[in-house]
Amino acid sequence: MAEDLPLFELKNVSVDYFLSGKSYRAVHNVNLKGHQGETVGIVGESGSGKSSLARALLMLEPISSGSIFFQGTDLQELSSSNLRKLRKHMQVIFQDPDASLNPRRTAGWHLDEVFSIHFSQVPSQKREELIVQVLHTVNLDQTLVSRYPFELSGGQKQRLAIARALLLSPKLLILDEPLSSLDAQLRKSTLNLLKTIQEEEGLGYIFITHDLSTLGAIAQKVAVMYRGSVVELARVHELYSDAAHPYTIALLSCIPIPDPQAERARKTLTFPQHSPILPVGTGCPFAHRCPYATAVCKQSCPPTQEISSGHFVACHYPCPNLIVRQGGSVSSSGPQNCIGPGC
Ligand code: SF4
Repeated sequence: MAEDLPLFELKNVSVDYFLSGKSYRAVHNVNLKGHQGETVGIVGESGSGKSSLARALLMLEPISSGSIFFQGTDLQELSSSNLRKLRKHMQVIFQDPDASLNPRRTAGWHLDEVFSIHFSQVPSQKREELIVQVLHTVNLDQTLVSRYPFELSGGQKQRLAIARALLLSPKLLILDEPLSSLDAQLRKSTLNLLKTIQEEEGLGYIFITHDLSTLGAIAQKVAVMYRGSVVELARVHELYSDAAHPYTIALLSCIPIPDPQAERARKTLTFPQHSPILPVGTGCPFAHRCPYATAVCKQSCPPTQEISSGHFVACHYPCPNLIVRQGGSVSSSGPQNCIGPGC
């Protein structure tokens, strides 16, 4: 594979859903790519289109427009049998591992099922060897193979789900809120496990979460989604230090501070709630919640602009100076006082 050939690439991808005879845009004109060994984080609140985007990448959701490439192959041009074969290289880990486990079957059965479905020609002795190997990779004891899902802890079930995905030798793992159902200690150990697997196997990850703080530990770059659009895309450390979209700044202001006094004292940026299924209008999708919206914002959709190398923002007034600092102080009162690019 050419060094700069992306593992996956979405070009101007849109997804529409239909409800009561009307169409609603779940994903709007998204451009995103990731390389082998890289983790791309996707963050946003519920209903922002994160999971719809992942399903579109897997071609489980029909796209209304745009193109999706995996290792340079246009997925829309593949026959359904070739698409099925290629999907083995793109595996998904969901938030709730129980949803993908049969409560009446043992852990060993779930692992062996992968061979029964995809590699039925593999002899049983070889299957056992591969299962032992993958259990070792995810730090699970071999004795667990005879246990049923209800006999496993949340962390063990999530590791079992990861083991099943790894048996298919994927190149891309889509991790859809994989830590949400785990306690703090299990989150940390699962995150470390994912990093180790990535280093050893060179996998690409798409890490979907509503918690921006998690991404600092695993992602190289982060796409912030709001109502189906990527409103900001940057390298993770740049996003933390120089977020330029008001919505990203609001998300950053919600990250808890491990100091009760500072946490109580700080102000967070809060915006009115919205319905995720509102049709997209012509203006900025964030305009009805943004405290800095102007008449221009309500009339025209902001184009995505590159405000520094690799840092893209869809805002008429990208404002890297509007930073919510530790303790909650806001260093600028908005675009009017901003000296950043575009203001
Ligand atoms: S374009 Fe206007 S409404 Fe949209 S995020 Fe920027 S300042 Fe707010």
